[in-house]
Amino acid sequence: AKGAGRNRFSYFTPALQVAALNRMRLTNDLRGAIKGQQLRVYFQPIVHLGTGRIHKAEALVRWQHPQRGLVSPLEFIPLAESSGLIVEIGEWVFKESARWARQWRGEHHPEFQVSVNQSPLEFQREGQGYEHWFAHLRDIGLEGSAMVVEITEGLLLDASSGVTDKLLQLRDAGVQVALDDFGTGYSSLSYLNKFDIDYLKIDRSFIRNLAPQSSDMALSEAIIVMAHKLGLRVVAEGVETAEQCALLLRAGCDYGQGYLFSPPLPAEDFDAMLRSPLVL
Ligand code: C2E
Ligand code: CA
Ligand code: CA
Ligand code: CA
Repeated sequence: AKGAGRNRFSYFTPALQVAALNRMRLTNDLRGAIKGQQLRVYFQPIVHLGTGRIHKAEALVRWQHPQRGLVSPLEFIPLAESSGLIVEIGEWVFKESARWARQWRGEHHPEFQVSVNQSPLEFQREGQGYEHWFAHLRDIGLEGSAMVVEITEGLLLDASSGVTDKLLQLRDAGVQVALDDFGTGYSSLSYLNKFDIDYLKIDRSFIRNLAPQSSDMALSEAIIVMAHKLGLRVVAEGVETAEQCALLLRAGCDYGQGYLFSPPLPAEDFDAMLRSPLVL
């Protein structure tokens, strides 16, 4: 009878419930992953298009799961957010990134920058600012200007004083701010003036079908012109082909990031790439 009950249970288990269970398991595993050192920070080069030199890198977290293999951040970042684990993960990514930024400033380029992603939940967390980040930077002897924080448009729409205060706090410490996935949110251009943003990252959905005379080309050109007039620099995301790169360069885009240059790499491999000249 017991066995039949179990069968009946699984028969009636809706797919949603299975998905929820799966998420719960993965969230539990994630807790262990932080302690068990299964997380890695990968770095993807951000290339100065005018010179072809690597001026910056974006830190992207990876999870090497003992059974499932590499789990995409698209899958586990949402779990980390809903469970609050994102704060711990973000701290760790920041410290790893700062350590490498210091090394690359010393050995490669004195103005090298590493950018870290901050989900809205991390950015807005109650009662805590970025003081402990700044303390860490002081401890390791790194200028704030070595770091960039990537946030998304949604944060600026909900323009609470908390958001404004944190942006000011970052600016005072010299940390720069990039607006990620630009063009995909509920774009209200007025906030570009209102907040102190340093970089716009054009979302890769605009870059994917970039071709002369295309509407995405027109949009990208308009974004670049507008950003420059407002004193912002522009990074194009998801640059995969030499043609896209040429079009962006011609449109005056400052930086490119994407598989054309390199996928995100383990820190040691990124370090090795910096030591050898980049062949485009
Ligand atoms: P994102 O911030 O927009 O990061 C760019 C994503 O595009 C990365 O995916 C990167 O691997 C991918 N990408 C780079 N170049 C190309 C290209 O040429 N073509 C294509 N198709 N894709 C490209 P990834 O690493 O899977 O990260 C996904 C998202 O997860 C990130 O999107 C970011 O929102 C989030 N994420 C990653 N690491 C962190 C983190 O440490 N903290 C937080 N809060 N979020 C993170
Ligand atoms: Ca990003
Ligand atoms: Ca992005
Ligand atoms: Ca994103």
